[in-house]
Amino acid sequence: MRAPLIAANWKMHKTVADARAFAADLLPRIGDARGVEVAVAPPFTALAAAAEALAGSDVALAAQNVHPAPSGAFTGEISIDMLRELGCRYAIVGHSERRAIFGETDAFIAEKVAALQAAGLRPILCIGETLEQREADRTFEVLSTQLGGSLASADAARASELVVAYEPVWAIGTGRTATPEMAQAAHAFVRGWLRERFGADADAIRIQYGGSMKPENAAELLAQPDIDGGLVGGASLDPESFSAIIVGR
Ligand code: PEP
Repeated sequence: MRAPLIAANWKMHKTVADARAFAADLLPRIGDARGVEVAVAPPFTALAAAAEALAGSDVALAAQNVHPAPSGAFTGEISIDMLRELGCRYAIVGHSERRAIFGETDAFIAEKVAALQAAGLRPILCIGETLEQREADRTFEVLSTQLGGSLASADAARASELVVAYEPVWAIGTGRTATPEMAQAAHAFVRGWLRERFGADADAIRIQYGGSMKPENAAELLAQPDIDGGLVGGASLDPESFSAIIVGR
């Protein structure tokens, strides 16, 4: 069975002090939440503080991005070793904001996936269609292209450690959520694609849903057979709503 992974993506929110306060508030709310894995992805500047504040708990640390090179002249970038030193278990790659605002391509994302796997960190690979693509009935084609490109150099021997986040772009930060049926159909497609690529190991890959997940809609989404957790933006900024998603599932 796949233990769901519920991860907070704070994006460009929260200072060091905010991260400490969040952890102190969150941990008693979720207790020893069994049968679910919880992760938090703070901005880079708050990773060390979050690691310290979450030490001794089962909450994993994730980075929001990473550069695939081990080191070098890449002003403003962060390497895998830097993340590993802080205790990161996961790194989000290919978030739609990075694709749309910072021009990241599937080829660049593929480098990140391969480098993370080689270093033993787990990629959370984000994919998802825009509203225009959905309305043109191109959702599966887009997902297929993003999966094929972003996983082009993936290590099949470590496939089970991959996490894929299906995040319809039109649902991110908009308050508009995919219905459980729409989300399940996309997740089932992704599962099928992963089976073609990785065989039976695909059954161990967690496929998260992301896009305006909140306490009011999480349980129904998480009850779908191929939805193995959530990547949560807005509702993860408040320990009350983030914990409600975790304990109310
Ligand atoms: C996200 O950024 O990954 C996300 C799903 O954001 P939100 O929950 O705010 O839609």
